Amino acid sequence: MSEKKFNQPLGGNEMPRFGGIATMMRLPHSPAADGLDVAFVGVPFDIGTSNRAGARFGPRQIRTESCLIRPYNMATRAAPFDSLQVADIGDVAINTFNLEKSVAIIEQAYNEILEQGCKPLTMGGDHTISLPILRALRKQHGPVGIVHVDAHADINDHMFGERIAHGTPFRRAIEEGLIEPTRMVQIGLRASGYEADDFDWPREQGVRVVQAEECWYQSLKPLMAEVREQLGAGPVYLTFDIDGLDPAYAPGTGTPEIGGLTVHQGLEIVRGCRGLDLVGGDLVEVAPAYDTSGNTALVAANLLFEMLCVFPGVQYRA
Ligand code: MN
Ligand code: MN
Repeated sequence: MSEKKFNQPLGGNEMPRFGGIATMMRLPHSPAADGLDVAFVGVPFDIGTSNRAGARFGPRQIRTESCLIRPYNMATRAAPFDSLQVADIGDVAINTFNLEKSVAIIEQAYNEILEQGCKPLTMGGDHTISLPILRALRKQHGPVGIVHVDAHADINDHMFGERIAHGTPFRRAIEEGLIEPTRMVQIGLRASGYEADDFDWPREQGVRVVQAEECWYQSLKPLMAEVREQLGAGPVYLTFDIDGLDPAYAPGTGTPEIGGLTVHQGLEIVRGCRGLDLVGGDLVEVAPAYDTSGNTALVAANLLFEMLCVFPGVQYRA
């Protein structure tokens, strides 16, 4: 019996890390998801933003900054490319002149990915894109649990009169039954709002809301133990808005808020998802133009690798 060959990231001793075609983690590009366990997907969409646009350039910059990531996780010993077939399947061809059509295009693209039994790890794009992804996931898995990292709750009823924008996806997702609210946690919420009780709507739905102040100065490992308990055995989606982190670490985003999570806490949250039945994940709101250092996309690329490292089926080296 021949052993299955898994795609490997192109090594730095085969092609200099700054050379070659920019795919996520220098993985092979695949035109479609068939045969893949996990696909990195870009969604270059930012027409749902309310302040600074620019997240349409997130996928490209994340791919560029991912060139230094090596295949093994030295902290957790995860070796995702020992047991999962992974590739970069490129970007969803959104219609940048039409938000609603783009949302439909994204849902259809994810239907096709999920029908192949492939799990998507998405490079955003603004947070609007999580709604069509969750709509597609519902068809495969029913309502999912959610780990949502963000400075914002994204549960506005409307923005500027519109029901779909980057500040509304989780309102719509809860209304549409895409999420089980009692299996949802929001981490990192903070800053100013329109009403003092802005974060109470999700709480009233049964969501656990962990405001940033509750996270300050501490390890989030104990929190994540509680999250694993809360979310239990069912399917879970991980959505990470880069603005959940403090702008000191991730300034390249459209709606920055001070007093955010540290990179270390971001790592603890993602690593703390190990053991959950993850069915997909996204990293959204990277807008590279506001960060000349490139650090925001570097952090994003590494967090996406960390997400891959906690997917079900990943092997850990002894
Ligand atoms: Mn968001
Ligand atoms: Mn946000």
